[in-house]
Amino acid sequence: MQLSDNHGRKFYYLRLSITDVCNFKCEYCLPDGYQHTQKQCFLSVDEIRRTVESFAAVGTEKVRVTGGEPGLRKDLPQIIEAIAAIPSIKKIAMTTNGYNLAKHAQTWKDAGLSQLNISVDSLTPHLFNKITGVNRFDDVMRGIDKALEVGFDKIKLNSVLIKEFNDNELQQFLAFIKSRKIEMRFIELMECGQTGDFFNQHHLSGDGMKTFLQQQGWVQQLRAKDDGPAQVYSHPDYQGSLGLIQPYAKDFCDTCNRLRVSAVGKMHLCLFGEEGVDIRDLIQHDEQQPQLIDRLQQAVQTKKVSHYLQQGNTGNTPHLASIGG
Ligand code: SAM
Ligand code: SF4
Repeated sequence: MQLSDNHGRKFYYLRLSITDVCNFKCEYCLPDGYQHTQKQCFLSVDEIRRTVESFAAVGTEKVRVTGGEPGLRKDLPQIIEAIAAIPSIKKIAMTTNGYNLAKHAQTWKDAGLSQLNISVDSLTPHLFNKITGVNRFDDVMRGIDKALEVGFDKIKLNSVLIKEFNDNELQQFLAFIKSRKIEMRFIELMECGQTGDFFNQHHLSGDGMKTFLQQQGWVQQLRAKDDGPAQVYSHPDYQGSLGLIQPYAKDFCDTCNRLRVSAVGKMHLCLFGEEGVDIRDLIQHDEQQPQLIDRLQQAVQTKKVSHYLQQGNTGNTPHLASIGG
């Protein structure tokens, strides 16, 4: 059985948020830092296991653990282990700001993590610190070195393109991946409910970069069915590759293969969808799996053909930390 929607899209890929909390203050995400309001109760290891088991039963093969900052959860190794124990899950990826990666990379790999995305918006220390609101540049760099040493199947660096911040750094990033087996991914800034002004001032299209890469002999690679949304380019002179994510591109949603579950157990059909479908009541006992699958199948039928970001829609998403970017 395979989860699919009314527009012919099949869902192989689950993005699972395990916490909303974050210790960084990225300008485009949580510029004032994480606000502790009411006490949130995030999914337990057992709830996460049951969620992923049900998704796996309807075709999910890849899980990305995200947040907030997933590295803040003390039980992260147990979470990874629980997901890794599900036979049909072939890849477990995680997106992290990398603040404690140097310390835990080996443990996470041993638990079953196969791919890692580390967010690095700038390779210039003072700019990195300005964008993220914390002085963690050296920790993150140490984390990247450690991740390379430990030997994950894939390591990607995420950099959000931000006009007037990191728009002059392409050469620096290219030099960084010249002899490192890393996929450098540039993500166009997306507008969220709470960060509209920042978006209006700093959004930068990736089109210029795309043209430059093509002129410099970078060649676009084919996509695998469980790949994320990046267009990936390679070049014979570089060990690393380069990915470009352009959520505002016309056909961006046509190849959507992913669904999301928030840290409090709401299934989201899109990063920019509405409320989300509560599934927490159906991940309390293993026997509830058939009912949960039923709910998942009904929900995906309502997935819209596009995120309508181009029309300024931000859905109910105040910032990406709230749903898992
Ligand atoms: N805290 C972790 C991190 O930063 O890697 C994981 C969660 S974060 C929400 C996931 C990714 O979303 C990061 O690479 C971040 O740069 C990206 N992101 C956050 N807000 C964004 C926005 N408004 N537009 C584009 N990317 C964004
Ligand atoms: Fe935290 Fe990641 Fe958002 Fe930055 S992008 S504030 S690291 S959740």
